[in-house]
Amino acid sequence: MQIVHSNAELAEAVANARAQGKRIGFVPTMGALHDGHLSLVRIAQEQAEFTVVSIFVNPLQFGAGEDFEKYPRTLESDAEKLKTVGADLVYAPSAREIYADESGVIDQSVKQSAGAAGQGFEGAIRPGHFDGMLTVVARLFDLVKPDVAVFGAKDAQQLFLVRQLAERDYPSLAIVKAPIVREPSGLAMSSRNRYLSASEHQTAQSLSRSLRAGEAASRVAGASASSVLAAAQQVMAEVPEAKLDYLALVDQSTFAPVAEDFAGHALLLIAARIGTTRLLDNQEIVIEQPTTSLLGARE
Ligand code: AMP
Repeated sequence: MQIVHSNAELAEAVANARAQGKRIGFVPTMGALHDGHLSLVRIAQEQAEFTVVSIFVNPLQFGAGEDFEKYPRTLESDAEKLKTVGADLVYAPSAREIYADESGVIDQSVKQSAGAAGQGFEGAIRPGHFDGMLTVVARLFDLVKPDVAVFGAKDAQQLFLVRQLAERDYPSLAIVKAPIVREPSGLAMSSRNRYLSASEHQTAQSLSRSLRAGEAASRVAGASASSVLAAAQQVMAEVPEAKLDYLALVDQSTFAPVAEDFAGHALLLIAARIGTTRLLDNQEIVIEQPTTSLLGARE
């Protein structure tokens, strides 16, 4: 496994792989890797013969007062983990490498706009976050030139927006969704879980519990958006230490909140602050079309 820091070395390694007829799989990360990230690498390896993992804590996607400075930077242990799963290339650039143009001038202005689907939820709580995320993702796509890029379902709104970006600007690039990897407790793995104390870790488990309650409610005959949300909300109401930012049910195809009569594939989204740590999670929910007999029973 090769570790490179410059765009020139990245371009050379990718060109060599291409010359051997290999397809390029890409997994963008901010490092502090856990089993969730490694699952993305495995998926990339199934889709392509040469896997590039980038490790870059992107200043553009952090707001003032967020954890950019303290975000864990653990390149050595990240590289060890990536070696164990057989990644081919680790690209760990500096901000200069990412944001400087050919003449060396650094331009850290935002180049992408997340649009309507980027305004709610994370976009509302972290203004500018998605514009910064999309700016670096587009830059990374331009540098790595992958055939396939793998993103985690855990960051559902990010995945939705990256898909929109790819459909518009990178039509030959396949975006692959990787399922959420969880700890045995149910807590979705996150680089930020390491900030949690033992008691906060307990509290954090309420997020996945709440999603499971929502999912269970969706399986009950006659389930609706409000019955799913009520079941999920009930769990969170019992855990006041978790400060809910949002709990919402959105249409998977639009990322807009669903109406009460919605039927189809939805995502139950949750974000909460536990102490000073913000955590996200989500769960796919299917709400069945009400059957005629149920409609009759309601009348
Ligand atoms: P990050 O380093 O947090 O920016 O994440 C890099 C990629 O890993 C993103 O596509 C995330 O959605 C994905 N990811 C993070 N945590 C998980 C997880 N628990 N399961 C699956 N994918 C994840």
